[in-house]
Amino acid sequence: MAYDYDDQNIFAKILRGEIPNSTVLETEHSLAFNDIVPQAPLHVLVIPKGPYVCYDHFALTATDAEIVDFTRAVGEVCRMLGVQPGEGDEGFRLISNAGRDGVQEVPHLHVHILAGRHLGRMLAAAK
Ligand code: 5GP
Repeated sequence: MAYDYDDQNIFAKILRGEIPNSTVLETEHSLAFNDIVPQAPLHVLVIPKGPYVCYDHFALTATDAEIVDFTRAVGEVCRMLGVQPGEGDEGFRLISNAGRDGVQEVPHLHVHILAGRHLGRMLAAAK
């Protein structure tokens, strides 16, 4: 599977500074910012700075340094939000949509961090 990255997607524009964002965390290889249409009281998107369409593309072709940076950035944002489980009633959900069936709207890899309320069961839609 050869992935074709569209550099006109909205997150590519955010990374180039063409569209503003509400930054939560920036690291060497990753950027975290608030979702413009939050689905929970806390809704942060974490993206790699490199041109990766989805998680599979990233896992196949990103450098080890990018993968480590991205993985740690997700964890760091959870800690920044104060939602790591085990210290109260907190917790969070990570979602990374991919492709048509995953209903991915923006074709640049992103992990949604959702938290701040009880999120219910993972999937509500019909099977
Ligand atoms: P997907 O469906 O691709 O997993 O999710 C894309 C997410 O990007 C959605 O939650 C949507 O609200 C968010 N989004 C779309 N455009 C923008 C934007 O311009 N800025 C920010 N911060 N989020 C956006």
